[in-house]
Amino acid sequence: MSRPLSGRLALVTGASRGIGRAIALELARAGAHIIALARTQGALEELDDAIRGVGSEATLVPCDLKDFEALDRLGAAIYERWGKLDILIGNAGVLGPVTPLGHIDPPKWDEVLAVNVTANWRLIRSLDVLLRAADAGRALFISSGAAHTATYKPYWGPYAVSKAALEALARTYAAETATTSKVKVMIVNPGPLRTRMRATAMPGEDPMILKTPEDLAPKLLPLCSADWQETGKLYDFPKDAILSFRAPAAD
Ligand code: NAP
Repeated sequence: MSRPLSGRLALVTGASRGIGRAIALELARAGAHIIALARTQGALEELDDAIRGVGSEATLVPCDLKDFEALDRLGAAIYERWGKLDILIGNAGVLGPVTPLGHIDPPKWDEVLAVNVTANWRLIRSLDVLLRAADAGRALFISSGAAHTATYKPYWGPYAVSKAALEALARTYAAETATTSKVKVMIVNPGPLRTRMRATAMPGEDPMILKTPEDLAPKLLPLCSADWQETGKLYDFPKDAILSFRAPAAD
């Protein structure tokens, strides 16, 4: 079996289920040691067994991403043990309320922004030095088509705002690392996939018509490899294409 990520260390947030779990397992299959972060300890332990089953190892981090100081401590712990981080997968996210802006409870708004945006910034803040210390640091942030649909799709306000902000965050980090490091930063649009979040967002949809996280995960391996050279762009899984960002243009 080819193990192109052998000797590499990857942190995956939201690794307990759905897209994050599939990415963690795919990176493990490619030989990476996985630092798996989520709140649900039992699901992390099941992932640990699966990672051993594909011949790799995991370190479990049962943690709420809203505990920002824990993310600072995580950076310090990774530094102590490994002195570098090769791959960061900022995957964890919440949908939040799907409702008109005027009806949203402020704590629910705050939670979506905390998990989907601020936690990823706190991870960058905590892990930047470790990604730069790796010989080919790679960061992927899992966004959504909702980042680009706010002008015609009502009611997805908190989620759309958070994913647009996540993309601005990732592109800023790409710009800051482009000429001063070997770090490459990519944004990923998974498109609709068969997960718990999708089922919550679209309860009337037949999940069997959707692609799965296991279909997406192998497509992200090249973006995590030392050969990958693009930064600040978006990998769109439905189109299976790398897309560039453009400023708004006149009609
Ligand atoms: P999911 O099945 O609901 O999984 C979400 C993951 O995030 C879980 O592992 C969950 O773990 C973790 N998480 C949520 N809140 C957390 C917190 N406060 N602290 C730590 N971990 C937390 O969702 P998914 O569909 O796999 O979504 C993964 C990413 O893909 C999200 O960013 C989502 O926005 C994006 N996305 C999904 C789709 C789709 O169709 N599925 C489409 C576009 C974008 P615990 O509950 O164990 O903490």
